[in-house]
Amino acid sequence: MSRVSYAIAGAGLAAACLGAAAYAQQAAPPPFATTKVDGTDNVYVFRYGNAQSMFVVTSAGVIATDPIGYGRPQAVVTYVDEIKKVSSQPIKYVIYSHHHFDHIAGGKPFKDAGATFVAHKRARERLVALKDPHTVLPDETVDSARTITLGDTTLELTYIGLNHSDSSLIMRLPKQKVLFAVDFIPVGSVPGRGMIDSYPIEWEDSLKKVQTMDWDKLIPGHPGAPGGRLGTKQDVQNLLGFLQDASAAVKAEAQAGKCWDPVEKELKLPKYESWAGYETALPFVLRRYCGLWGRGT
Ligand SMILES: [Zn+2]
Repeated sequence: MSRVSYAIAGAGLAAACLGAAAYAQQAAPPPFATTKVDGTDNVYVFRYGNAQSMFVVTSAGVIATDPIGYGRPQAVVTYVDEIKKVSSQPIKYVIYSHHHFDHIAGGKPFKDAGATFVAHKRARERLVALKDPHTVLPDETVDSARTITLGDTTLELTYIGLNHSDSSLIMRLPKQKVLFAVDFIPVGSVPGRGMIDSYPIEWEDSLKKVQTMDWDKLIPGHPGAPGGRLGTKQDVQNLLGFLQDASAAVKAEAQAGKCWDPVEKELKLPKYESWAGYETALPFVLRRYCGLWGRGT
């Protein structure tokens, strides 16, 4: 049986098992949700729409991350309310994962609550230049690494090089062995528009560094596929394979003079067609690698 036939058979089976009502419910998840990470007693994922961030409740206050309020300030009000439902502690920090507005815009309610904003130094440089009216400037910056200790909790912030952006901080809770990494490790899905300003060669090195770190669970910046799951080291390995395969495939075509149109219109990566977003995201992947191998950028 071909791969496509398997996919169709699998989808049919899933629909039959779930029943029509459950299937409809799955298609329209609630607008937001707060979930405690299994195996921890103080690490939470706040999801609003299709973006999410981590927050950590410590004995001396709350560490929040990306406000995820681009074009929807109500998401951030909800985020603060959701934190208050699980902790009466003050919100001490907001850590930005990287500089993209879809993740960091809208932080004013956190600022009003007295939080200190932290980001990679390159993120602050960009934000100072752009003066986005909806994005709070970081109060403090990180160069290569910083450890935040608050009450009984330690959170490590590490810059592991260029990848999806030039300002990505990976956040690791060493005791809980949990990572929060945004956009440079999509879980079970093909990276799409986010390829546009990425650094594809260095990205691969960045993923290899993530594999050497000590962790068990990865919280991605968008719900993992399928079902909003968290990520594992296998997901990192799979993504590395995807980037390497996409890069090699486009490189061969680009050096034969096939960028942009023939590659963007005709090249496929069927090994990955079962990944979420394959059809819509693939053109962005091909365009980025055409930029690299067919243009030199
Ligand atoms: Zn991004």
